[in-house]
Amino acid sequence: MPAPVPTSPHAGQTPSQEILSVRHVSRGFDKTQGELLVLDDVDLSLQSGEIVGLLGRSGSGKSTLLRIVCGLIQPTSGEVMYQGQRVQGPAPGIAMVFQNFALFPWLTVLENVEVGLEAQRVPAAERRARALSAIDLIGLDGFENAYPREMSGGMRQRVGFARALVVNPTLLLMDEPFSALDVLTAETLRTDLLDLWTQARMPIQSVLIVTHNIEEAVLMCDRILVLSSNPGRVVAEIKVPFARPRNRLDPAFRDLVD
Ligand code: ADP
Ligand code: MG
Repeated sequence: MPAPVPTSPHAGQTPSQEILSVRHVSRGFDKTQGELLVLDDVDLSLQSGEIVGLLGRSGSGKSTLLRIVCGLIQPTSGEVMYQGQRVQGPAPGIAMVFQNFALFPWLTVLENVEVGLEAQRVPAAERRARALSAIDLIGLDGFENAYPREMSGGMRQRVGFARALVVNPTLLLMDEPFSALDVLTAETLRTDLLDLWTQARMPIQSVLIVTHNIEEAVLMCDRILVLSSNPGRVVAEIKVPFARPRNRLDPAFRDLVD
């Protein structure tokens, strides 16, 4: 597999540039009682090198916004620009990790990860090599032939990460990736992920993570956007004034999240 090249700006090499721009995005859904406006004129932008959190209550439209960003659904109005191109369907450089893992139970770990490459017409041998490499990177070595039902939640979500990483995305979207896991498992996975990010072992340049967990947002993100409910609007932006790695036992940090 072509090894991810450590050119990420968080390794301090390239000047920051805009990766993603969400412009005036609104989205409604038809309900029996009329149209429900879920997102109302949402603007946001991600620079390379940033991990940005999207914090909001349940039902505020966070998942809807991520689905729009990765081209799974269209906005009612407004547009999403990814590296200068308008997103109108699934974009090759954007990958997503889901809250409930979204694995195929009848496929092995290796096959589930290869699914990530299905849309890209990668030759079989290369697909296998890249999947094995992603499995190795995320710490699932030895589980290639296991089925999801044989694995813990934390391991299943690692498969979810491997399937996202196998496409060598530059933008990683995560929809409450740790919320189905117990606290310690979530912490381990988050730390492993941040280690890969810090060491620039992935080609990912920016991360947009949805969460309703303030502590998680503060632990991971450089910047946090707060989404209101009914309708969802970006109502606040918080810059996190701590360098990584952030230790949750650091008293200064504890004051902030308590
Ligand atoms: P969050 O991820 O912040 O919890 P969602 O984006 O999942 O919020 O949902 C926001 C609102 O949009 C909810 O009221 C939900 O019922 C509605 N919604 C989301 N997807 C659909 C859909 N496909 N059809 C109809 N309503 C939807
Ligand atoms: Mg959601």
